[in-house]
Amino acid sequence: MSVGVFGGAFDPPHLGHVALVRAGVERFGLDRLLVRVVADPGHKRVATRPDVRLHLAELAFAPLGVAETALDPFPRTVDSLEALDLPDPVFLVGADEFVSLPTWKQPARVLELARLGVATRPGIDGKQLDAVLETLERPDRVHFFPIDPLPVSSSEIRARAARGAPIDAFVPAPVAEEIARLGLYRGVETGGGGGMLGEDPTERTTPT
Ligand code: ATP
Repeated sequence: MSVGVFGGAFDPPHLGHVALVRAGVERFGLDRLLVRVVADPGHKRVATRPDVRLHLAELAFAPLGVAETALDPFPRTVDSLEALDLPDPVFLVGADEFVSLPTWKQPARVLELARLGVATRPGIDGKQLDAVLETLERPDRVHFFPIDPLPVSSSEIRARAARGAPIDAFVPAPVAEEIARLGLYRGVETGGGGGMLGEDPTERTTPT
């Protein structure tokens, strides 16, 4: 029984997240995928209540069949993995997030608790990834897998929704319908990172 974990603010969940997870499930032969919706992502600004983000994530990831979606009370990955106490889990992340691994809380302990499955896309700077690997005691715990590039981020979707632009091309259909039904992100102040758009990862605000 192999278990994967995928964490995020999911404000909202989008097709980039789903593509990453689909590829990760296949690459690691995952029987279960625990989607962790970080209730209070610390320094990262969220526009939406945790229970609403949980609901959107359930809609986004349910079609995978293996996803179990829940709120995560821990903003930091290491604390979440300690609490989950899983046998040899694979923690899935985007390459942009992996580049910031040295700034996560206790990265060495993270790699003791889980292997990292890092989704890469064409255009990712391999030297940056190598530089991070060189800082690790256990680089053997990191596995890269390719995904098709999907230039989409939650912050961009919030910005689009706030100005009334369509978001259907960026989120699963049930998520788009629910965002419209609940009137989410209308006129909200947007901000935060840019997903895998290739921005400077040091400017990301997610503490992992
Ligand atoms: P924001 O724009 O608000 O920073 P985000 O789109 O980056 O949000 P998060 O919830 O912060 O979404 O990201 C959760 C995980 O999804 C991270 O591991 C991140 O690397 C990954 N991810 C984000 N965007 C993409 C994308 N377009 N394709 C693949 N993975 C992505």
